[in-house]
Amino acid sequence: MTILRGLFILEVAHESHINSKGARVAAHKTIIQPQTVREFQEMNAYIYGKVNERYDDPDLILRLLEEIAKIMEIARKDELEKLPSQLARTYSWWNAVGNRFGIDLQEALWVKYPGVCPYCLRGENCACAIEHPVISDREKTLRRLRMERDKDPKTLAGYQALHKRLYFLQNRRILVLHTAAHLGEEAGEISKEARHHNKKGLEDEMADVASWMFALANRCRIELAEEVWRQYPYECEKCHLAVCTCECSDSPQAS
Ligand SMILES: [Zn+2]
Ligand SMILES: [Zn+2]
Repeated sequence: MTILRGLFILEVAHESHINSKGARVAAHKTIIQPQTVREFQEMNAYIYGKVNERYDDPDLILRLLEEIAKIMEIARKDELEKLPSQLARTYSWWNAVGNRFGIDLQEALWVKYPGVCPYCLRGENCACAIEHPVISDREKTLRRLRMERDKDPKTLAGYQALHKRLYFLQNRRILVLHTAAHLGEEAGEISKEARHHNKKGLEDEMADVASWMFALANRCRIELAEEVWRQYPYECEKCHLAVCTCECSDSPQAS
């Protein structure tokens, strides 16, 4: 792997072929380090799209839920040193589900969180208590905000920062374990929407799962974009190939 421009562009061995002299030559594909949520999603499709075909839709959802359950275990055992890697892995499976169900995850995030908390409509320091406040014309306001595309953070780091602005103070009042429990709760919602084949609902819940992943990352001072890139630099974390070829028993992306 050739790394140029301080990690911003790299070349990965893509596919090899036999040249006219009978020698095997590796073809290289130039790849840009992902910045936007969409680029991270494309990276996941590139590495794992093929190998994940082994999973049918429900099993792919289950894989995401397994990874979220591991986060809850880490939180319960207070093994927070394991959290950065597990959060990156869970983010990877979140992308895999997005790819399978044809969800543009960046769009799903912006539609659900268009620069504000979708319940209290504050642009910083969400004021929602246990119950969401009743606001008239909330949907109308959200529709208007969604149109303000120039405010879409676009990058994964930018989305984490947006969710920090919205929820860091609110979430500082609860334990890491509670934050993980919220993530688990949203995982159940994903399962429900997928089981009912409700794509709109699934998009909505996928955004909520990301929001709680951001909450954990912010709470534990993890830069999610950096962790994901460290673990999946356009290669599988296990077989280290740009296009994963892990056998089924290797459980790709799993520890
Ligand atoms: Zn709020
Ligand atoms: Zn692999």
